[in-house]
Amino acid sequence: MNKDILKYLEKHGFEALRPKAVLFDMDGVLYDSMPNHAIAWQRSMEVFGIRMTLDDAYATEGARGVDTIRMMVKKQQGREIDEPEAQRMYDEKTRQFHALPETHIMPGILDLMAQIHADGLTIGVVTGSGQRPLINRLLKDFGAYLTEDHIVTAYDVKHGKPAPDPYLMGLQKCGDLKPWEAFVVENAPLGVRAGVAAQIFTIAVNTGPLPNKVLADAGTNHIYAKMPDLAEAWHELISDCR
Ligand code: MG
Repeated sequence: MNKDILKYLEKHGFEALRPKAVLFDMDGVLYDSMPNHAIAWQRSMEVFGIRMTLDDAYATEGARGVDTIRMMVKKQQGREIDEPEAQRMYDEKTRQFHALPETHIMPGILDLMAQIHADGLTIGVVTGSGQRPLINRLLKDFGAYLTEDHIVTAYDVKHGKPAPDPYLMGLQKCGDLKPWEAFVVENAPLGVRAGVAAQIFTIAVNTGPLPNKVLADAGTNHIYAKMPDLAEAWHELISDCR
């Protein structure tokens, strides 16, 4: 890990990594929700004559839903649609998602958050989703560690992941922090690219079916295979920064 921190500091010309916050992505990080999202994407886009495979769903994970839809419509139907039309299609995706059984909290995440909280760091969430029920669930499940003012949703930023904007907004919401004062925890290539573009030390936890190489190519600073591995490594990781 030390070597990855040095590489990060050198790349950006920063003096030290002094994390005061951890910015978590939501789907595939806090919740084991990606299988349901992939199914909801596939079923809902079918309604509009758009073919979306499970691989497409994983590859576009983390982008704002409306951005993904506009891109797919352009690619498959050759037309530009406006945001309200994309939003109506996204509403169908949301409906399909909520028709599926509730997703589980990611194993290991509560243990990790408890340690982060005990170390005095702020916990933030930066997601491309924006449905109110999801925000309420976040506060119910992680309310011991998380407050609403530290959540960034699709509606807080104009440009979603892979643009740096969502994570830059996360830094701002968690106390006007500099990039070297936070970690990003992501599972998806577009999310990793967003964290890296915001110049934040970006940790990937590969909870899905994509090969590690995809996350490495996106520029991630360090990869874990699963959340309990990161929880176990947390103490050492934070010690390396001090
Ligand atoms: Mg994700």
